[in-house]
Amino acid sequence: MDKKILNQKLKALAEKHGTPILVMDLEIIRDNYKRLVENVKNSKIYYAVKANSHIEILKLLRDLGSYFDVASRPEIEKLLSIGVEPERMSFGNTIKKSSDIAFAYEKGIKMFAVDSEMEIEKIAKNAPNSNIYVRISTNGMEDDADWPLTKKFGTSVDHAISLVKYAHSLGLNPIGVSFHVGSQNYNPENWRVAIREVSVVFEEARRMGIEMKMVNTGGGMPVKYSKNIPTVEEISAVINEAIADYIGEDVTVILEPGRSMVGNAGVMITSVILRSQKGEEKWIYTDAGVFHGLTETIQNIRYEVEVIDKEDEEKEKFVLAGPTCDSVDVMYYDINLPKTTTMDDLIVLYNTGAYTTEYGTNFNGIPSPKIIFESSIFVKQELFEEV
Ligand code: PLP
Repeated sequence: MDKKILNQKLKALAEKHGTPILVMDLEIIRDNYKRLVENVKNSKIYYAVKANSHIEILKLLRDLGSYFDVASRPEIEKLLSIGVEPERMSFGNTIKKSSDIAFAYEKGIKMFAVDSEMEIEKIAKNAPNSNIYVRISTNGMEDDADWPLTKKFGTSVDHAISLVKYAHSLGLNPIGVSFHVGSQNYNPENWRVAIREVSVVFEEARRMGIEMKMVNTGGGMPVKYSKNIPTVEEISAVINEAIADYIGEDVTVILEPGRSMVGNAGVMITSVILRSQKGEEKWIYTDAGVFHGLTETIQNIRYEVEVIDKEDEEKEKFVLAGPTCDSVDVMYYDINLPKTTTMDDLIVLYNTGAYTTEYGTNFNGIPSPKIIFESSIFVKQELFEEV
């Protein structure tokens, strides 16, 4: 889509609703869902609610038949409130409160992720006889992902095997293995490496008489920010091949997309509220920053940014910062913006549907961006990816 045409539509919405806003298009999410489920064989999509838990998104995915990866009791409650059955939820956080486990169990959730003995003990006590899956770590993939998840989550293959045995001894039912290659991962081969490691756990479990039937490939599929990305089709092909080569076709493949389900369905619009010169540096301050949805900018996420009505202007380096009285509230120290960018200009950040409003705080009393739904504003995913 011509960026300028889209930007004019966004400008009209900003004038109508004020800023900051996150404009989202449910049609894109519908496309993303279909594209993924059609490409990975024997797959079930468990949408990672944490990426964007807006009720309209959850309702759409409920109606499309999606399952859900939940991280906490409030996420479970939100899904229950719109009639999602507990059988369609997996408690995928490996760090759960005992009381949340008990709540989930009481509601009928039967699937829990683990990567430690103590978590297994908590589940055995609060959710007896439940299904568990063990998360393995994905060390060595840090450089391929903008948002690595290697250290905090998962465990070695050897430890995973002993966890399967331990869970079984406590009366739980080990049904499979999960991993996450890191969010916004650019290298499809990482999925192959992880699935090969899963197969080792499967093999050892089989020796213990435990037949596992589920491979949970987590999230990690990327969204188009500023770098080129592999397509869903390319990553799916690697997953299909690796499952066939190392595990066999007789398993369910669970996919837990967060970023790739909603990221390209949203565009954030902020207003410039101040421009200032500090020595050599030109600073632009906007009405949403690190504490109001642009949190992922503090690691490696580089959003594509434009200033409406100044798309063709020559650009130069700026510092882009948020509105709060906190020095951490700086999105980018080296971003190219039109030379004349100034107060009241509208700054658009593309592909910001995931992990933005979910991180939004009320810090400094400043509200986070509202979500506005606009049907078919982005028209077609392939076109929008070119933005
Ligand atoms: N599954 C689990 C257990 C996660 O923790 C996450 C993200 O943190 C996801 C899935 C979603 O990952 P992504 O947004 O990269 O698709």
